[in-house]
Amino acid sequence: MIKLIYQNAFLYVSFLALSLIACGQNKENKTPQNQDTSAVTIFKTPDEWKKILSKDQFGVLRNKETEAPYTGKLLYNKDKGVYKCAGCGAELFTDEMKFDSHCGWPSFDKEIEGGKIKKIEDNSQGMHRTEIVCAKCGGHLGHLFDDGPTATGMRYCVNSLSLNFEKTEKVVQQQYDTITLGGGCYWCVEAIYEMLDGVKSVESGFSGGTVANPSYREVCMGTTGHAEVVQIVYDTKKTSLDEILKVFCTVHDPTTLNRQGADEGEQYRSVIFYRNAAQKKTAEEIINQLNKEKVYNQPVVTAVQPFKVFYKAEDYHQDYYNANKSNGYCKMVIQPKIEKFEKLFKDRLKKNN
Ligand SMILES: [Zn+2]
Repeated sequence: MIKLIYQNAFLYVSFLALSLIACGQNKENKTPQNQDTSAVTIFKTPDEWKKILSKDQFGVLRNKETEAPYTGKLLYNKDKGVYKCAGCGAELFTDEMKFDSHCGWPSFDKEIEGGKIKKIEDNSQGMHRTEIVCAKCGGHLGHLFDDGPTATGMRYCVNSLSLNFEKTEKVVQQQYDTITLGGGCYWCVEAIYEMLDGVKSVESGFSGGTVANPSYREVCMGTTGHAEVVQIVYDTKKTSLDEILKVFCTVHDPTTLNRQGADEGEQYRSVIFYRNAAQKKTAEEIINQLNKEKVYNQPVVTAVQPFKVFYKAEDYHQDYYNANKSNGYCKMVIQPKIEKFEKLFKDRLKKNN
């Protein structure tokens, strides 16, 4: 064991020493006149390069100088993104290719494929090395060694000054999502969700049954297998399925099978129709939690089922509560539920309500 530690320490020190020699170059030995420009697609005169590069960048990219070890701004960069040639913007490496080599310069174990980096034999300074240059503009990047510690065995030793780093944009979250919920009479449920901040639209309709394009009358007869549902489109930046399901649990009773108050029948069943695995998981987690914490005296009977199809109800069912506030059912059944919701979610109401 001890022997192994010594051996490793020795290897590490040797590696470090070798790296310092390997990457370092003296300014005196620079060979700008030998730059291989045979295949470059971007050709500029030194004066033109000086206009777009900093003095230090020009020294490295065009005069093959080497920045002092442990000084480069990208040495410890661990952000996700792409490393580009500082001269021409060609994409050369990604964050996944970078590793910590302890050699004092940013190191990569492979390059972005497509011949973007050119390898040139370099016998300067009494060493036999492989110089790497940007294939597009001929800019000097650094050197390539075959002593890399990863599976590729390669170490692209690159000057920070030769590179520009572009951070990957955060993955854009899908802004709108849709969920279909059965919580008894859709008039109530729709009215409440329309007040929740982040809800873009709510439609009343039917889902979960076997009859195509059912009418309200057919569904009321209880023979279609459909449940009265609301289909909610929501902005995931302003609300979440978690919140929507919490509201769901306050606006209906999830413990009564095929019944909501006086409304009885399969069409009034409590059901969540999920569209993807994430929605299913969220729904099941909330139900498990409610049961575990015994939030209700009875177990939650809400069904969690895959969404198949939604049939929009007749126009006069849409936005029913707001159009019929003086109606007895609205006053007796819906209004108390709305008041309860407003109290519980007072900070989450749409501002214009
Ligand atoms: Zn370039």
